[in-house]
Amino acid sequence: MSNFESLGLSKQLLQSVKREGYTAPTPVQEQAIPLLLKGHDVLGVAQTGTGKTAAFALPVLQILARKEIKGRRKIRTLVLTPTRELAAQINERFATYSEHLSIYHQVIFGGVSQKPQVKSLRRGIDILVATPGRLLDLMEQGFIDLENIEFFVLDEADRMLDMGFIKDIKKVIKLLPKKRQNLLFSATMPSSIADLANSFLNNAVMIDLSPEEITVERIEQSVMFVEKQYKINLITDIINENRIKRGIIFTRTKHGANRLVKKLDRSGIESAAIHGNKSQGARTRALAAFRNGDIPLLVATDIASRGIDIEGVTHVFNYDLPNEPESYVHRIGRTARAGKSGVAYAFCDESESGYLVGIQRLIGKQIPQFKEHPYHFSKAIPKPDQKPGRIKESKKKNHRKNTLSQQESSKQHKNRNNRNRNRRSRKN
Ligand code: AMP
Repeated sequence: MSNFESLGLSKQLLQSVKREGYTAPTPVQEQAIPLLLKGHDVLGVAQTGTGKTAAFALPVLQILARKEIKGRRKIRTLVLTPTRELAAQINERFATYSEHLSIYHQVIFGGVSQKPQVKSLRRGIDILVATPGRLLDLMEQGFIDLENIEFFVLDEADRMLDMGFIKDIKKVIKLLPKKRQNLLFSATMPSSIADLANSFLNNAVMIDLSPEEITVERIEQSVMFVEKQYKINLITDIINENRIKRGIIFTRTKHGANRLVKKLDRSGIESAAIHGNKSQGARTRALAAFRNGDIPLLVATDIASRGIDIEGVTHVFNYDLPNEPESYVHRIGRTARAGKSGVAYAFCDESESGYLVGIQRLIGKQIPQFKEHPYHFSKAIPKPDQKPGRIKESKKKNHRKNTLSQQESSKQHKNRNNRNRNRRSRKN
């Protein structure tokens, strides 16, 4: 195992890394940092929890800091990410790592006032971390100029495509200068991502840390078969027995998340929900309360939880099994981060046994069954010849997911139109 000193990082960055308590680089850092410092494009197959933010943030900061800037700063690095939470988190990391450098960074995302964002952009920044909707919105309003971009980072590319951002991404790429360094991170590498990568990376070096190797191995997984109506009893028992202080519970739907928070509350268990229907303020508050340890449990849907990085999560519950097997890996990856171990429970009712087959096929192994609980329901166990279940329900869910991204993009559209209208009326 190498150390940070051997990766070619500057004294200032080594100080920041040390202060964060990082003793050795993670595999993705070990591989990506020297490549990026040498000027290569990088295609990283790695999920959140692997240390990938530092893997790109450290070399980007080092290269940007080499140039002394006089006068107003121009955006030299653009990091695009799918969700607000992830954008905020990456921006915080830039703050941490750049403590000893004079590099300015800013995050922009929708759902909050654009005013402070615009103010900071006007003052001049070196690094912009953005979600696609707000980026395009502020670009259209003339507040953002991408002509001086030296680094373009596309984070969580697979989730970007899932959320319907492909057109936005292509629009942004077209506006970037030809000469630049690119980095694409994705937890999975389906052909759609490979095509996207080919369309804008130049001779990229691929770093492949497939999820099974990096996190799943350290997670103690088990599946419990249970009738849907008894899931609440089962989870209440487990939470109480284990005195869980930091756990994330995943549900498939936003309503399911809200309902579960209420049911847990009735059993005297405190939790908060985060999902796409909650305002940005409510999401931030819930996350902060969870992060500080004020509430022990977060109930989340996949999209809202994506990329959230909270240290010390000991338990992940798949209260509903996800209909997309990849989500299972993302979900359980919320625990066992940065070298720690974790526990992941999956609840499987009769309608979900096909999903379980799909998940086990993806991770390449059987999840150990735990039957010694009072609600064990053997009918939910997959049949030996059962096919992976993306079938009927999955179509419905996909429709729901599309509806969600349509809702989000139509919201963005509406905001944009309103803003244009306001601008026009200001001019008149
Ligand atoms: P990321 O995958 O970038 O979201 O990082 C996941 C977590 O690992 C964050 O809490 C980081 O602060 C932490 N981390 C990143 N690099 C290291 C390292 N080399 N040693 C220990 N922790 C790290």
